[in-house]
Formats: sequence, structure tokens, C-alpha cells
Amino acid sequence: MEYSQQLEAQREELTRTARQLREVNEKLTQLSVQKDAFLSQISHELRTPMTSIRAFSEILMEGVPPEMAGQYARIVHDEAIRLTRLLDDLLDLSVLENGSVQLNLGLTNLQQLLDRAVQAASHTRPEREFTLHRNPAAENMFIRTDGDRLAQVFINLISNARKYCDAARPELRIVVRHRGGRVMVDVIDNGSGIPKASQALVFEKFARLTDQTRAGGAGLGLAICREVMGSLGGTIGYLPGQGGAAFRVTLPLRLEKAA
Ligand code: ADP
Repeated sequence: MEYSQQLEAQREELTRTARQLREVNEKLTQLSVQKDAFLSQISHELRTPMTSIRAFSEILMEGVPPEMAGQYARIVHDEAIRLTRLLDDLLDLSVLENGSVQLNLGLTNLQQLLDRAVQAASHTRPEREFTLHRNPAAENMFIRTDGDRLAQVFINLISNARKYCDAARPELRIVVRHRGGRVMVDVIDNGSGIPKASQALVFEKFARLTDQTRAGGAGLGLAICREVMGSLGGTIGYLPGQGGAAFRVTLPLRLEKAA
């Protein structure tokens, strides 16, 4: 190779390396911006319940009429629970995100798991009686998975459905199907759904898209669901065009027992 060709090759190599360095630098800056945004969101979420706890405990310490004391103590108690839940969710998310989650795999009957999730979610506030529509497909379906983690996903989805469904006529549909070695579970409510522009954001951390005063969550539930489904080898997605909000959970069907 001639000297001028060698020089040209080295120049190209240098240009390529400079471009790669620039890209790495841009990525690092982007990560740092995301980290700052995440920390500021966490601080904000922690500060809100802390402020109430501080204010109401100070009022209690100064002394209030007994009929008010119970009410203020209840606020302090509820806010402390909110804070604990938030910290638990943040810890859970960090374990899931860094891949150090321990799965406890076993054979799980899908119907029983969904029953359990409906039951567990029934404690979610606001208290309301759903009309629940189910198809029987899950009855004889057994999947090899971490049952507690999968239940966590459905509890989250069903709790959200309780929060955001039509308050006057609350309805929930859970539809199970299996196709091509995969099982699909759709959780569909009859609320106002998620606007098209926000559908891609619902699985992001701290996503709160609709009327926040109704819900009161920190917006971590669906981010956790996405991480859990990833660790179980499945997926979760939003299903547009179903009336209310609709989420589809997909899992590999490891084993199906005949009826
Ligand atoms: P949160 O604890 O705030 O409910 P999630 O991650 O579970 O957090 O949900 C994020 C946001 O997605 C909610 O704040 C709400 O705006 C929207 N969302 C979730 N589920 C539903 C639903 N079933 N119907 C309407 N909006 C929903």
C-alpha cells in the first residue's frame, strides 16, 4: 500500500473512532439526564407524603380536640403506608431492572392464578363491585412460571381497572386464549381508556396520564409489570381500540393439560 493510501486509511479510522467517541459521549449525557430526571421524580414522590406526615404529626403534637386526633392520625398512617409502598416498588423495580430477580418457578394453573389476582385486587380502593366477564379457557391451562410474580402483574392490571373503570357501571373482562405455543390474557375495563398519544408511555416509570386525583399511585405499577413479564419470558402491551383500557399479557404455554 502506498504511503498516501496508508495515510488515507488512518484518517478514515480516526474519523470513525472520533464518531464512535462522540456517540458514546452523547449516550452518557443522555443517561445522566435520565438519571437526574429519575432522581428528581423520586424526590418529588417522596416529598409529598413526607410533607403530610410532618405537618399532621406536628399538629397532633401541639394537641387537637380528640375528635380531630383520630382523623389526623389516620392521615399520617395512610401516608406512611403510601411511602412504604413507594419504596417497596422502587426497590422491586431496581431488582428487576438489574436482572438480579430470583424466580421461583413451578407449575401454575392459570384459572386459579387469575381467581387469586381478582380476589387480591378486590381490596384496592375505591371499593366497587365489578361485573366480571371471564371465558373458561384458563381452566385446564397449566404454565411453568413464577406464580407469585405473574399474579403480581394481574393484580396490578386488575387494580388499575378498578381505579379507572366506569364508576357508575364498573365492568371487567378477562379473556384467555392460546395460540402457537403462547397463552394470551387480555384484561379489559370499561373506563375511558388511555389516549393514543399516551399509550406508548404507560409502561414508563412515573407515568401518570389520566385524572391523577382519582388514582393516587406513583406510576410505577406498569413499569414493574413490564419488567416482570420480561423476566418471565413474556410480554405485556396495550391493546388499542377495545373501548376502555385493554392490556395483553403473553406467555409461553409450557404445558396444557387436557380436560
Ligand atoms: P399508577 O400507580 O399511577 O396507577 P401505573 O404504572 O399502574 O401507575 O399506571 C400508570 C398510568 O397509566 C396511570 O396513572 C394511569 O394514568 C394510566 N392507566 C393505567 N391503567 C389504566 C386503566 N386501566 N385505564 C386508564 N388509565 C390507566
